[in-house]
Amino acid sequence: MTRRHTLAAVVAVALLGVTAGCTADRDGARVEPPTAAQPSAPPQAAPEESCNARASLRPTGALPAPRKMPAGTHMAEIFKRGRLILGTSQDTLLFSSRNPFTGRIEGFDVDMGRQIAEAIFGDPDKIQIKVIGYDQRVQLAANGTVDLVADTMTVNCERLAEVDFSAVYYEAGQQVLVNKGSTAKGIEDLGGKRVCAVTGSTSLENIAKVGSRPQPVGRAGWADCLVAFQQNEVDAISTDDTILAGLAAQDPYAKVVGPKFTSEPYAMAISKQYPEFTRFVNQVLARNKADGRWKRTYDTWLGDFGTAPAPPRAAYR
Ligand code: GLU
Repeated sequence: MTRRHTLAAVVAVALLGVTAGCTADRDGARVEPPTAAQPSAPPQAAPEESCNARASLRPTGALPAPRKMPAGTHMAEIFKRGRLILGTSQDTLLFSSRNPFTGRIEGFDVDMGRQIAEAIFGDPDKIQIKVIGYDQRVQLAANGTVDLVADTMTVNCERLAEVDFSAVYYEAGQQVLVNKGSTAKGIEDLGGKRVCAVTGSTSLENIAKVGSRPQPVGRAGWADCLVAFQQNEVDAISTDDTILAGLAAQDPYAKVVGPKFTSEPYAMAISKQYPEFTRFVNQVLARNKADGRWKRTYDTWLGDFGTAPAPPRAAYR
């Protein structure tokens, strides 16, 4: 079974759960491919930033061979422990979601973590996935509960004050999901409407900044936003194009509209206690972007949306 077929099957199974609480017109819904993701399209507006949030720590020296982590480093600690601990979500289709057939959490973000495990152990399976809330991402990375957070997480100056981030590994941007019958052409047309996003996400803050003043409504996870949308508790959902593509794939009565009105560069969050680990992660990322591994990961999870763009360029400080 290819990933494409796996996605269709996962969505089909997800629908069984999601449609259970839906209004009658949604029953018997057909699965359509998402139309939203345009990962290479330029963002409409860059957020105001007080620092260069994209600039991470520069790798130093050559990448150590797997199982040969330099003594005294956090990589050596992880090796000794026998597994890398990755914090991520389980409901972001294509990035990190639970495959109902295997029970495994999988996706682009999970593969980012697996590739770091592979670089440390020579085995991508030496990984423990901790499912965390979106509003816990900064805290659990900062205090070292998890080694890495890879969870559609935007790097920005506010978060950078508390954690280090790897170089950027994916460029997303915020759009909006509405009912298929809606005449809204973008977030600006939703003035006064209830628009859902997850508590602790940049998406919720961005909705509040829109000039036409949509009403931001916070929920615990994206699946909760989708149920609220399907039960008419909210009029729309607004978040990254990547996440909306996964939600639209679960609801054929929804469509994604509008230009990307923010820039959401994704990076992995790491405790500031381990700068050598951030440098190591950046070394692995740089290698993977150069040798085609990043592209293969893109093709595996996002290939249905078209040809892979060039990987984001690393910036260092
Ligand atoms: N990328 C945004 C963030 O990091 C929104 C999506 C999410 O919550 O994962 O807050």
